[in-house]
Amino acid sequence: MRIGIDRDRCIGAGQCALTAPEVFTQDDDGFSSLLPGREDGGGSALVREAARACPVAAITVRAR
Ligand code: SF4
Repeated sequence: MRIGIDRDRCIGAGQCALTAPEVFTQDDDGFSSLLPGREDGGGSALVREAARACPVAAITVRAR
């Protein structure tokens, strides 16, 4: 899986990090980023849930 975060669209709501904390985190400015080594989602079933939870649809998930 390939995860994309549109940081221009992200408003720092934090829903992604709350929903899938093993994949997403927030940087010092509150914007979403992927944890090191989790760029492929790490097999987490919660990644798609996190994408749905994002209020501005900043997260895209694509199968490889
Ligand atoms: S849920 Fe969306 S808006 Fe909120 S931090 Fe994550 S990517 Fe950004």
